[in-house]
Amino acid sequence: SQKAVGSLRNHQTISKDGNHYTIGANLSLLNELPAIQKSGAEGIGIFRTEFLFMDRTELPTEEEQYRAYRKVVSAMHGQRVVIRTLDIGNDKLLTSLKLPDEVNPALGMRGIRISLAHPELLRPQLRAILRASTAGRVAIMFPMISEVEEFNRARALVDEEAQKLEAEGIKIADNIEVGMMVETPAAVMMADQLAKYADFFSIGSNDLIQYLFAADRNNEKVAYLYQALHPAMLRTIRRVIDCGHAEGKWVSMCGEMAALPAAQPLLMAMGLDAFSVPGKRVLPLRQLVHGLSARKLQPLVHQALDAANANAVHKLVQAQLPQLY
Ligand code: PEP
Ligand code: MG
Repeated sequence: SQKAVGSLRNHQTISKDGNHYTIGANLSLLNELPAIQKSGAEGIGIFRTEFLFMDRTELPTEEEQYRAYRKVVSAMHGQRVVIRTLDIGNDKLLTSLKLPDEVNPALGMRGIRISLAHPELLRPQLRAILRASTAGRVAIMFPMISEVEEFNRARALVDEEAQKLEAEGIKIADNIEVGMMVETPAAVMMADQLAKYADFFSIGSNDLIQYLFAADRNNEKVAYLYQALHPAMLRTIRRVIDCGHAEGKWVSMCGEMAALPAAQPLLMAMGLDAFSVPGKRVLPLRQLVHGLSARKLQPLVHQALDAANANAVHKLVQAQLPQLY
């Protein structure tokens, strides 16, 4: 019932067999913050910072960004806020920064590629995030990483800006995690090595499904190929989780798949540590986790990984967990 779900607001997220999970909320606009604070979320799993940069002619200053980040971080009272650095390109364009026209923008300049090509965009953002870090608990997350070198170059900019701030006498937190989204197949295949450098992984299922199946996430004609519950995607996710865990790193998912009821039991049983979902989906997910045992779901996971297609996975999940359909 509504009341039973509401009473879960201040609870931790623990499965029947005692596994802990963290359910964060997605934040893309500042005005979503009040609802997130009431949602029962254990922090922000992805703070998309694009809104600060879009629909305006001037880039936001470091100071303006600092105020926005600090507001969100302090509002979460020490719960982790994962701030994703600017992820423009492809379908997200800026009027304040003209990008070259590309034949294939989904495979062109976007995400971390733009930030590394334009450090004058990334450095002020990193400084603003670092300065906001004393207001609570901050993690930095880079989008669209496809190789170790890219991650290390981005991380080096964090270290450089942190050193500069310290030299200027500006305090920053000493527990800032620096992680990455896993949303390219190359990052999946290199996850064993990336996990040595990144403090955490967050699976960006929206892009990862698109790149895994080579099927545009916004093209209806190929939508039949865009399948979260396909064994190809489930195997991909399992690899990312296992590679992260082998290096002692936590693994989250912040794409829309994390909020898909039929996917959630599989994700928790595969050992995903954290979910980031829309605020409204936090408590239903917590209730689901409370009612399930990860250990008892293992046969279902193995059958799903061995299935021939997404339809077969749905049938398996529906047969064992009909309440999700
Ligand atoms: C994703 O790709 O899953 C993701 C969370 O990033 P975005 O949807 O902003 O590209
Ligand atoms: Mg993405």
